[in-house]
Amino acid sequence: MNRLLLLATGGTIAGCADNNATLNDYTAGVLGGDALLAAVPQLQDLATISVEQVANVDSADLLFEHWRALVGRIRDAFRSDPELVGVVITHGTNTMEETAWLLQLLIDDPRPVVLVGAMRPATALSADGPLNLFQAVQVAVSPEARGKGVLVVMDGQIHGARAVTKVATQGVGAFVSPGSGPLGWLDDAGVHLPMASPASAVPFPDLALPEQWPQVAIVYGCVEPNAQMITLLLEAGIDGLVFTGTGAGQLSVGERSALEAWPGARPLLLRANRCGSGPVHSNADDQRLGLLPAGSLNPQKARVLLLLASIARLDHAGLAALFSASA
Ligand code: ASP
Repeated sequence: MNRLLLLATGGTIAGCADNNATLNDYTAGVLGGDALLAAVPQLQDLATISVEQVANVDSADLLFEHWRALVGRIRDAFRSDPELVGVVITHGTNTMEETAWLLQLLIDDPRPVVLVGAMRPATALSADGPLNLFQAVQVAVSPEARGKGVLVVMDGQIHGARAVTKVATQGVGAFVSPGSGPLGWLDDAGVHLPMASPASAVPFPDLALPEQWPQVAIVYGCVEPNAQMITLLLEAGIDGLVFTGTGAGQLSVGERSALEAWPGARPLLLRANRCGSGPVHSNADDQRLGLLPAGSLNPQKARVLLLLASIARLDHAGLAALFSASA
């Protein structure tokens, strides 16, 4: 029998409302991972699953210490148990893509790591959590998923950690992979991953995560932005900044001036975009302002990369090399 580790962190998949017609007004992170498992007895035919509770929170309340615990546990489980076939993580959908991307950058093992959540609380009529969990385990034990990187399973689709993003506040089909599309899907015939390619090299396989994490902020572009925000953040001594520019990552004149006028050392600076899809390429100002384009990473994932780059003490050139290696 396949041996699987289920790490539970909370979210709507573990959420409860007062009655089963309530879909929005509920408390996330109520049920434990063992209760989620018990609700899907069919899982017993797929794997022998051991459950550990890493957290039980709404994913907006996840902390760096939860990430540190997750990464440590997964690395340790893979290192100490050669028979383990994979790991499934139950997670709130709101920040699932950030955790998936974090793990993709840190976990160097061909065995699948699959994140799964739900858009409806566990108490809802037609709750989507049980089927999502069943399908996540199907993916985690399938040989097809080996070596394909960290995966997200929602609503019968299988997404890769780099592209996947949540694009809707309602409805079970809230996840897409802009540009590339999902890597595959599940049906009665099993797991299909026709669009998945072998995962690219993991950039931080041995990076030790500290207790105290760097400060990396996100600034969001809009009409007449408050460019003083940039100066205030730089004065506060942040370690990294992601500009979510308009269009293909455009900064306003005021924002560029604020950066140019900054007399101190520059933290790591990335330029992403707020469009929801499409890349940011380097432009004439980048070098002068100390910016690097974030490619196809959305702002929240660019921030995850900056956090790790900062922990790894990469400088601007090191970060640029990381981008060109993964392009
Ligand atoms: N509030 C939830 C969260 O923990 C949303 C969800 O899981 O769907 O992210």
